[in-house]
Amino acid sequence: MQEKTFASQADLEEKTISFDKLSDHAYAYTAEGDPNTGIIVGDDAVMVIDTQATPVMAQDVVRRIRAVTDKPIRYVVLSHYHAVRVLGAAGYQPEHVIASRDTYELIIERGEQDMKSEIERFPRLFRAVESVPGLTWPTIVFEKRMTLWLGKLQVELMQLGRGHTKGDTVVWLPRERILFSGDLVEYAATPYTGDAYLTDWPATLDAIAALQPEKLVPGRGASLRNPAEVKAGLDGTRAFVTAMFESVKRGAQAGKDLRTVYKETYAALKPKFGDWVIFDHCLPFDVTRAYDEATQYPHPRIWTAERDKEMWLTLEGE
Ligand SMILES: [Zn+2]
Repeated sequence: MQEKTFASQADLEEKTISFDKLSDHAYAYTAEGDPNTGIIVGDDAVMVIDTQATPVMAQDVVRRIRAVTDKPIRYVVLSHYHAVRVLGAAGYQPEHVIASRDTYELIIERGEQDMKSEIERFPRLFRAVESVPGLTWPTIVFEKRMTLWLGKLQVELMQLGRGHTKGDTVVWLPRERILFSGDLVEYAATPYTGDAYLTDWPATLDAIAALQPEKLVPGRGASLRNPAEVKAGLDGTRAFVTAMFESVKRGAQAGKDLRTVYKETYAALKPKFGDWVIFDHCLPFDVTRAYDEATQYPHPRIWTAERDKEMWLTLEGE
């Protein structure tokens, strides 16, 4: 069998972008499983949730925002710290970049390493990477919850629990019941769990479900436009996270090594989830983190470009 190319270095095919109107205030910029961006148009200002990976890529979001409003883009919210979500921030020239304290701490602790690691894993997602001016630093850091008024429009920024990372922030429009979930929820796209808290993730999905969103913009995949679709997104994410972690825990408890557990988990998950985008990319990272959490690392270890490649060789090498 031929060795798989590292991460997504062989993924070069451009995706088709959609810009969906979810309400008079909410839009979703989605791209067939590439990272999504959410847009909230308030009475006096625009908020962008997750930026795209580079300032040049952000220009396409700006162009679509300008087709629907000329209000200033005042706020950028980081749903979490991952490079592919945050490094385009400068492209919006926002007055403020907002993040949870946990996300801010992760940027300090591992932002540099994460940037290098992510760019090497998935070059296509960092088009015009030379336009990135460096790490994105928040100008407003909040604890657990923050309410913002864009004129009369109430916007809630909330940390509902750990899951995809320890800093996950969702953005909620209570009047319209629209939720921007970041990577806590994916739709027909494989959840990346390399920096996750897998024990906590299902309870955080419960907290999202308890809000009873009418519509939800996931981190990857199409926007979910009614309660049935929202449920499908939540259920699918939960099914993957739970099945993957259970498989790894079983193997780890039986004393199997990481490579064996990876092969078994891959075989177990492939029939149900193998057609979700980035399945082959995510699974080695996902199983490695799950094995860590099931054994001796309650907190995710930092990925570096070097650690990425060592891990890949261990799991995917001949
Ligand atoms: Zn992420």
